[in-house]
Amino acid sequence: MTTFAHTEIFDPGRVDALLRSAPAFDRGRFAEVLDKAGRLEGLTQEEIAFLLRVDTPEDRQALAAVAIRVKEAIYGPRLVLFAPLYTSSHCTNECLYCGFRSRSNTPRRRLSLDEVRRETEAIIAMGHKRVLMVAGEDPLLTARDLADQMAAIYSVTTPKGNIRRVNVNCAPLDIDSFRLLKEVGIGTSQCFQETYHPETYQKMHPKGPKSDMGNRLHVFDRCIRAGIDDFGMGVLFGLYDHRFEVLALMEHIAWLEREFGIGPHTISIPRLEPAEGTDVYETTPWKVSDGDLIKVTAILRLAVPYTGIILSTRESAALRRELLRVGVSQMSAASITNPGGYAEGEGTVPQFAVQDHRSLDEVIREVCQDSYIPSFCTGCYRKGRTGGKFQEMAKHQHIDTFCSLNAVATLQEYLEDYASEETRAVAERRLGEFIERQADPEMRRRMQDWRARIKKGERDIPY
Ligand code: SF4
Repeated sequence: MTTFAHTEIFDPGRVDALLRSAPAFDRGRFAEVLDKAGRLEGLTQEEIAFLLRVDTPEDRQALAAVAIRVKEAIYGPRLVLFAPLYTSSHCTNECLYCGFRSRSNTPRRRLSLDEVRRETEAIIAMGHKRVLMVAGEDPLLTARDLADQMAAIYSVTTPKGNIRRVNVNCAPLDIDSFRLLKEVGIGTSQCFQETYHPETYQKMHPKGPKSDMGNRLHVFDRCIRAGIDDFGMGVLFGLYDHRFEVLALMEHIAWLEREFGIGPHTISIPRLEPAEGTDVYETTPWKVSDGDLIKVTAILRLAVPYTGIILSTRESAALRRELLRVGVSQMSAASITNPGGYAEGEGTVPQFAVQDHRSLDEVIREVCQDSYIPSFCTGCYRKGRTGGKFQEMAKHQHIDTFCSLNAVATLQEYLEDYASEETRAVAERRLGEFIERQADPEMRRRMQDWRARIKKGERDIPY
């Protein structure tokens, strides 16, 4: 292994050693670890390494069952939905797995502010209230431009509503640039490490600013110093051994908690997909099977029970359903991954192949049929319940108090303003059951009251 200069954040040698030295699988130990995880106490690195060895269908099932319980205890049936909004497919980097990489000969697009507004209108017209703004490392897109794009998204108001939260996934910025995004109301700032394995990182990012692995590893320090305490981490599963990636990610999280007192608001679990003009997907020796992605999601749910897990439309509807059960708490729906694609349809090349092609209406209907309550809630961010404050709230199991009411309200808004008859019938029934099951009569009364107010025309009731 080559010398790695950022061992304060995570130590590749230590991660390797942990993987090599993980004790042989033992039923008694397995039961102990699951028991501890079921008490919402998280997992040590050794325990994670041990669970990563789980292999038989029965043991995978036992692991999943505890993850389902933990998810239910903290998040209840809520599922947050959002849409990605791509503002530029220009990129100066050469990530070998990405359709936007600089040497790829595909047509590019950088949206003007008017085009960003049109794209936003199209997303609002679908029923979304939260977007993840995504841009490649476009040399002509400054932090000021990113802030202007965010402001353009927030500025759009249609008779049916507006976007209430803009999260951003862009190149790792410096502190002043993050401050600019904070001024215009960034929600979560996302940046994925892609891979923590140094040699693989260098191989996959041979050119451009992204080839500096340390710069990317330190992005959240700058983000936090700029006053953004809501940040989202992630790796691209399939570039290297997923067991190494999970353990390194956990070391990184532990370091952030030690240094700054907060961990990530979310972890994303994208998996390598085919992309235009690249064969990394076909040639990688580290493909992650569906079963292993479910296992990894369950382990993450147990390891960091209070951190949201985000899933994209890279995965099929059937697999998304499984991942939702074991840990995912947020997912994109009806996504288009080329700039301008919502307003104008296909044009430029998408970043990756989307596997779930359901409309937002279909997603909402199907997740309600599966007993979830889809939510477009943005209440916490506007009330300042972010970062450490949100995590404290989650630890005291208050997600249910705030989030359930907001979920009911925003789903009801969707049903009034956008839903097909079929979806409305399914979701109204689901909401009714959910409210009836509330143990607290005051909460039940409030939910019924809010539903009635929304049916009469009120929107965005603050809580
Ligand atoms: S992954 Fe991001 S940084 Fe890399 S080429 Fe694609 S858009 Fe650019």
